[in-house]
Amino acid sequence: MTPSAMTATAGEFRAAGTDLSERRRSGVSTGPLVDISAAPDTIGMHWGDDGSLRIGAFTTIAVIAADARVAEAYPGIAASAQGLATPQIRHLATLGGNLAQRSRCWYYRNPHIACLKKGGSDCPARSGNHLYHSAFDLGPCVAPHPSTMAAALLAYEAKITTDRRSSLTIGDLLGDGSNGTADNALQPGEMIKSVTLASPLEGERALYKRAISRTHAEWPLVEVCARVVIKDDAFQFTRLTAGGIAPVPLRLAAVEAALQGKRANVATIAVAAKQATSGAKPLPMTGYKLDLLKGVVQDLLERLAG
Ligand SMILES: Cc1cc2nc3c(=O)[nH]c(=O)nc-3n(C[C@H](O)[C@H](O)[C@H](O)COP(=O)(O)OP(=O)(O)OC[C@H]3O[C@@H](n4cnc5c(N)ncnc54)[C@H](O)[C@@H]3O)c2cc1C
Repeated sequence: MTPSAMTATAGEFRAAGTDLSERRRSGVSTGPLVDISAAPDTIGMHWGDDGSLRIGAFTTIAVIAADARVAEAYPGIAASAQGLATPQIRHLATLGGNLAQRSRCWYYRNPHIACLKKGGSDCPARSGNHLYHSAFDLGPCVAPHPSTMAAALLAYEAKITTDRRSSLTIGDLLGDGSNGTADNALQPGEMIKSVTLASPLEGERALYKRAISRTHAEWPLVEVCARVVIKDDAFQFTRLTAGGIAPVPLRLAAVEAALQGKRANVATIAVAAKQATSGAKPLPMTGYKLDLLKGVVQDLLERLAG
């Protein structure tokens, strides 16, 4: 079925299919599909005169990762795209599909096990094996949000345009983690059309880092995107977001508060990095993620201040 033939309830969208095809194979996704690969206005990057950037939802992760202007203006976005999955996946996977990909939870992916995201009444990971799950227990489902690009786009306060809404923030799209039945706040049949980034701040620097259980081809245990403006040797602007630790990517507001206006040195950073776990509520198996989170935050900030 093509986009022109689709209706709000026609079926599940298929972009590149790198996530969807696995769920089809296992029987977790059934029913009709809507091929959106021919959707108009969804491919490519368009720079505004003010230095802003609109990225079509069907733009591949590899194109974003390889674009020199993106790397210069939005290094946290470029590095996130470069670090994600494998070259083969990046070559196919689309930005819209990355944002809307479904949970990686092994219970969700098992067609024989019910869970909240499949109409079940509870989260089997909570009482089961949740080694790779949330360390910030924010809702009934304890699976971490799977999208690397969502975590980075949150640091850039990206705006999302869908075929129905033009004023969504990335935060609106992700929700607050309290809805255990969904991975995003898209309505049935709502398609992401593009993502818009405001022009970068003057003098801003950014980095992205992931802690991962093997060298590549794996979702991160913890990932952090950090943006800073350091002026007169002090943190003038800070924005840090983290993925892999909660049902939605989180803004690390307590770290930002501990940095704001302070001298950009190792002492400030050491104090601020400890704040990364503010509000954390780890599960019995996920406490280790808090040490990873603090370490990644500290490393990124020291490199940005160095
Ligand atoms: C080995 C491996 C490692 C990986 N590591 C990472 C990682 O570190 N970080 C990470 O983020 N991802 C990772 N991935 C996942 C990969 O990035 C996703 O599979 C991919 O981004 C999905 O994009 P797609 O275009 O193939 O989406 P599809 O598979 O086509 O779609 C995925 C979902 O999104 C919906 N959808 C697609 N496009 C839209 C749209 N425009 N509007 C609304 N809904 C839409 C579909 O209906 C479907 O439910 C990994 C995958 C593999 C296989």
